[in-house]
Amino acid sequence: MAYHCLMCGAELGEQVIENRTRLVCATCDWVYYPQLKVSAGVLLEEQGKLLLVQRADDPWKGCWYLPAGYIEVDEDPLVGAQRETLEETGLVVAVKGLRNVSMYQDDPRGNGILIVYDADRISGSLRNSSESTAVGFFNPQQIRSMPLAGSSHSQEIRQWVHEKESGCCCGS
Ligand SMILES: [Zn+2]
Repeated sequence: MAYHCLMCGAELGEQVIENRTRLVCATCDWVYYPQLKVSAGVLLEEQGKLLLVQRADDPWKGCWYLPAGYIEVDEDPLVGAQRETLEETGLVVAVKGLRNVSMYQDDPRGNGILIVYDADRISGSLRNSSESTAVGFFNPQQIRSMPLAGSSHSQEIRQWVHEKESGCCCGS
């Protein structure tokens, strides 16, 4: 597969710059610097249960994840996390703090970081979307037998399950 320069359209060639092999345009010297994708989502717990969404599409079709999605280039991740939650679950939520940031390298759509916020429900009622076949709140015992989607989401969800089962309150 050939890649072309975003500036002049010429074909890119490999060249070592700053100790890494990069794609460079021989015509105008433009360098392609790939960057991580940014996703944001929420961890919303109610009555000892965690809000999860079942993916309608690949990758990880049928697996469960936190309500989350890609952030637009002009969007605050905090706002994007609330937007994605509304789109995917029907719930209007308010972020109350940052929970974690993690990197993943197992998504065929590209490497990225997942920003997870703790959130509370403000209004709304659960419903599916075009991206989800099911949404709901699940307790730790239920979650342990559910297939989870992707390393970052799996890590966040398992950490929550661990905290619930061990009675730990995140160090507080
Ligand atoms: Zn060029």
